[in-house]
Amino acid sequence: MSALKQVHFPKTPEEAARLLARGDGVRCLAGGASLVAMMNLDLVDPDELVSLAEVAELKGIASLPDGGLRIGAMTRHRELETEARLAGPFAVLREAAGKVANPPVRNMGTIGGVVALADPAADYPSALVAADAVIELASERGRRRVPAREFFVGLYATALAPAEIVSAILLPPAAAGVGLYDKLARVAGDHAIVSVALAVTRRPRGDLGVGLAIGGCGLTPVHRAEADVLLAAGALGDAAARRAGELLAAAADPLNDVRASADYRRLAIPRMVTRAVARAREELGRLG
Ligand SMILES: Cc1cc2nc3c(=O)[nH]c(=O)nc-3n(C[C@H](O)[C@H](O)[C@H](O)COP(=O)(O)OP(=O)(O)OC[C@H]3O[C@@H](n4cnc5c(N)ncnc54)[C@H](O)[C@@H]3O)c2cc1C
Repeated sequence: MSALKQVHFPKTPEEAARLLARGDGVRCLAGGASLVAMMNLDLVDPDELVSLAEVAELKGIASLPDGGLRIGAMTRHRELETEARLAGPFAVLREAAGKVANPPVRNMGTIGGVVALADPAADYPSALVAADAVIELASERGRRRVPAREFFVGLYATALAPAEIVSAILLPPAAAGVGLYDKLARVAGDHAIVSVALAVTRRPRGDLGVGLAIGGCGLTPVHRAEADVLLAAGALGDAAARRAGELLAAAADPLNDVRASADYRRLAIPRMVTRAVARAREELGRLG
């Protein structure tokens, strides 16, 4: 029988964090897509839930004075997949949102829930790493910011401290460029066997800034700065794409699981990277 005794409805992130500090048996509830499923399977049995549904600050996407974007933790996948401001290199995030599960899950789940859960097969972590996004965290002590590239630290493990919540995802001002997300899955809507997230910025000087990350092939997104530099220096050419793909395949530490073997994943990485880079090159060419 469930131990659930109380559901709280705080109005601010700080109040939510204060309620979480009441003990180990207190869990945060966002969209409930994963947490309620875990509760139904008796994988978790919280005493109290802290619903984020009434924390206004966590909702929606705001343009920042510097031209960047602030994506509230309670923003649903559905809102992100249709958000026109996720343009240029940040289209990587819009495409990742559109590849999450199916419409019911996309209407229910939130970006903050995915980020906090840190499922290695989830779609946003690699996209956030490719986009070089920053995760904002809130606690009673105030706010702090952690780059996505440092936030995911292991299997369902992040830089989140106890009694701290994900409050927002921050993106810098968008530059000209392209962003894309491709996912290899057994069937449409399944979690990724391998995913590739690519964000390419054309800088004012004309050179490229590249962020490339692989999902589903290790406990955390696979990212190597050398691969980004190779692709930028090689102007997204085929040779650079092959070398970047091989580099990331060597860096990956994929698991054998019900979706695919580790060997299959390692073989798929360079092919998916080559395909993604070719698409980015083509789209960048169309930008003129
Ligand atoms: C059938 C199904 C298929 C799915 N397929 C995919 C898929 O293909 N790709 C994919 O990426 N995801 C997939 N998911 C996961 C989905 O994206 C969920 O929405 C997501 O994992 C959790 O988001 P949520 O808002 O529902 O969080 P919840 O289920 O409410 O919470 C999940 C966890 O995060 C914690 N949490 C939530 N929000 C915060 C916060 N702001 N700060 C701190 N902790 C927080 C909760 O305490 C809980 O531990 C799938 C889920 C289901 C049920």
